[in-house]
Amino acid sequence: MTTTPTSTGPTEPELDETARIARDLIRFDTSNYGGGRSNGEADAAEYVEAALRDLGLKPQLFESEPGRVSVIARVEGAEPAKPGLVVHGHLDVVPADPANWSVDPFGGVVRDGMLWGRGAVDMKNMDAMMLTAVGDILRAGERPARDLVLGFLADEEAGGVLGSHFLVKEHPGLFDGATEAISEVGGYSTFIDGRRSYLLQTGEKALIWIKLRARGTAGHGSQMIEANAVTRLAEAVAVLGRQQWPIVLTDTTTALLGEVARILDVDVHEVAPDELVLRTGTAKGFIRGSLRTTTNPTMLTAGYKHNVVPDTAEALVDIRCMPGQEAAVLAEVRALIGDDVEIETMHTDIGLETPFSGPLVDAITATLDRHDPGAPVLPYLLSGGTDNKALSLLGIAGYGFAPLRLDEGMDFPAMFHGVDERVPLDALSFGSRVLRDLLSTY
Ligand SMILES: [Zn+2]
Repeated sequence: MTTTPTSTGPTEPELDETARIARDLIRFDTSNYGGGRSNGEADAAEYVEAALRDLGLKPQLFESEPGRVSVIARVEGAEPAKPGLVVHGHLDVVPADPANWSVDPFGGVVRDGMLWGRGAVDMKNMDAMMLTAVGDILRAGERPARDLVLGFLADEEAGGVLGSHFLVKEHPGLFDGATEAISEVGGYSTFIDGRRSYLLQTGEKALIWIKLRARGTAGHGSQMIEANAVTRLAEAVAVLGRQQWPIVLTDTTTALLGEVARILDVDVHEVAPDELVLRTGTAKGFIRGSLRTTTNPTMLTAGYKHNVVPDTAEALVDIRCMPGQEAAVLAEVRALIGDDVEIETMHTDIGLETPFSGPLVDAITATLDRHDPGAPVLPYLLSGGTDNKALSLLGIAGYGFAPLRLDEGMDFPAMFHGVDERVPLDALSFGSRVLRDLLSTY
């Protein structure tokens, strides 16, 4: 795979419906900068609303703050006794600096058999697959068995405060009767020992964002200052940044390692977990962080002049740990950095773990097998988080399943928030076929 597009792929009139919708959505610059700064999702939401209306549905728009718009539509199932399924994607994207890209990140460019642009992978691809899959079902005069709650959500890239969390808090009735959800960062393929395998995301690590604050003596930069806040802070930051956290296997990661070992034909007890994970192809980019706690320092603030020792210094650290381990990890962090440095918790979010079993998992596995026979399906724990965390507050069990069949050379995890984000056109049409099949048979 080249990183610089040279030849032109299919001309735009040849694009199938999923690619066309994904391209249109990419052309709405819905950049979410965080900290309350965003271009908003209003234009993309209106586009989705119109597409849903064309299917005969009755979409509702929810504006949590001016311009911050989510769209919800319910598809009535043929068997009301069955619990509902939420199928959701987010409409916002992380920003993109055009200077670093080979194409206009908001141009919706099609080249080399791929759709390029911010959101091609995260996650306007799935938004488009949802619209096409449901459209195919309804236009064929069919109905899904169970109610589908389709969600096109705002603000996921800033924690979903103005999207999923807003809806769950202010309009929980939208999700009445739903017990399960599918969404992003799962369903894609990776190659294990030359064998294409699909990863189903069945859990998400918990998140703790802390601020470290060291205090000391302010003074002239030429003097002997033992209590230097910058030095104290730097020591704590280095300790956390270098910390080798022990492996903690959850049910999900235990099942994953067992499956990887089976594919590699090795004894799971004889190969170290890190080594097994390194053999999961491009997916290792997502999986490596799922075996243990991570404590990554991400920001530093101190001082205001070269020859002035400041009295305080601060650092931000992004902690991700196993679901339910938050208190223990914070206690360990405290012990590691000692009492000289203060810890302030800025933001937390829960972890999730759902079983890799049950009717939905069976349906997903069977559906993938119909479209890519014999390819194994493996569970994994996501080191990051999705809107499924918000839905879990309503008791909805969330999975990551945005199906894409990818070639071996495609470094898919690198596409998330990456430069030159792009998705193969044939992966998009594969994904909508699989999703259509799943939604019409589950
Ligand atoms: Zn996303």
